[in-house]
Amino acid sequence: MTEYKIALMPGDGIGPELTEATLKILDVVQENFGINFNMILAEAGDAVFKKRGVALPEDSLKIIRESHACLKGPVGETAADVIVRLRLLFDLYANVRPIKAFPNVPVAHPDIDMIFVRENTEDVYKGLEYSIGNDVTVCLRVITRQNCERIAKRAFETAKLRPKKKVTAIHKANVMRVTDGLFKQVCQETAKNYPDVKYNEMYVDAATMHLIRTPQDFDVLCTCNMFGDILSDEAAQLIGGLGMAPGANIGDNFALFEPIHGSAPDIAGKQIANPISMILSAKMMLDWLGERFNDSKCLKAAEAIEKATVQTLINGVTVPDLGGKVSTLQMAQAIVAALKI
Ligand code: ATP
Repeated sequence: MTEYKIALMPGDGIGPELTEATLKILDVVQENFGINFNMILAEAGDAVFKKRGVALPEDSLKIIRESHACLKGPVGETAADVIVRLRLLFDLYANVRPIKAFPNVPVAHPDIDMIFVRENTEDVYKGLEYSIGNDVTVCLRVITRQNCERIAKRAFETAKLRPKKKVTAIHKANVMRVTDGLFKQVCQETAKNYPDVKYNEMYVDAATMHLIRTPQDFDVLCTCNMFGDILSDEAAQLIGGLGMAPGANIGDNFALFEPIHGSAPDIAGKQIANPISMILSAKMMLDWLGERFNDSKCLKAAEAIEKATVQTLINGVTVPDLGGKVSTLQMAQAIVAALKI
C-alpha cells in the first residue's frame, strides 16, 4: 500500500473545523482507494504564537520538510509569518486557484470554470517595505524574468489541458511600465510556444469588471502576486463565496494545499463554515500526488471526491452559507456517504 506523509496544519478560526471535516473524507479515501496517509500535525498560526511566541516553529518546518505534501487550514493574524514565509521557504511559486460553478449553489453564471495561476513569491508581497522618514513610506515591487517565465509557463501548461485552452494575462503595464511591462513581455513570449492556446491580455481594472459581467468567458488567468490575490477573492463570490474556493501552492519539488480564504473569526466555532474549500484543496492534493508519483489511485480518489461533493450539493445537503441547514461536520458526513456509494 502506498503511504504518503502529509504535514497537517489545522490553523486558526474555522481552520480546525474544516480540518476535522476534511479528515473524514480522507479516512474514506484511505479505505476505498488503498492509499495510506500518515498525517503529522505541524502547528502554526495565532494559537501557537500565543503559546510559544513563534507562529511557525522550527519543529513544524522539520515536519513539512520531511513530508510529501502539506495540507493547511487558514491562519489568522499571523498569516504573513506562516503562509507567506512557507511560500518563500519552499519556493512554492505557483498559486493555483480554481473557481468553478457547482450545481445547487447560488452562482453568477452556471458555466463559470476558470483557474487563477498567480505568481506567489514576489511583487509587493516580498516584504520590502520601508519608512524613509518624514512620514514617507515605500514598498518595493519586485518582478523578475525568472518568476514571470515560470508562472507564464505554468499558466499555458494548465490551459493546454483544458477545453477552452485560453490564457488571459492580467496586468497594469500602461502604468507600471517597467515591472508589469516585463510580465507582459514574458507572457507574450511564452504564448508563442503554445500555438494551440488562445492568448489575450487585460488591464487589472478591466478584469475586475469583466469578472462580474462575463465570468463564463475566462479560462486561465495568469497574474502577478497581488492582483491574483485580490481578483480570486472577487471571483469566489461568483460561485457561492469563499467557502467554495480551494487552492494550491505549487513548487517544483513540494506543494501545499489550503483554502483561499482566511480564518473567518466571525463564524469560528459555530459549525457553520463551508468545508468544501478545504475538501477540494485535499482533492487538489490528491491530483498533485497522483501526477508527481504517477499514482492512478490518487487521481481516481481526487475525481471521486469532486463527484461526491457534486452529488451532495445536488441532494441539497448544504451549510447555512449556501442556504442550507446542516453543520460543517454534517456536510462532510454527507460527502462521506456519497463517496461510499
Ligand atoms: P482573516 O483575518 O484570517 O483573513 P477574515 O474574516 O478577514 O479572516 P476571510 O476569512 O478570508 O477573512 O473571510 C471573509 C469572510 O468570508 C468571513 O468573515 C466569513 O464570513 C466568510 N467565509 C470565509 N470562509 C468561509 C467558509 N469556509 N465558509 C463560510 N464563510 C466563509
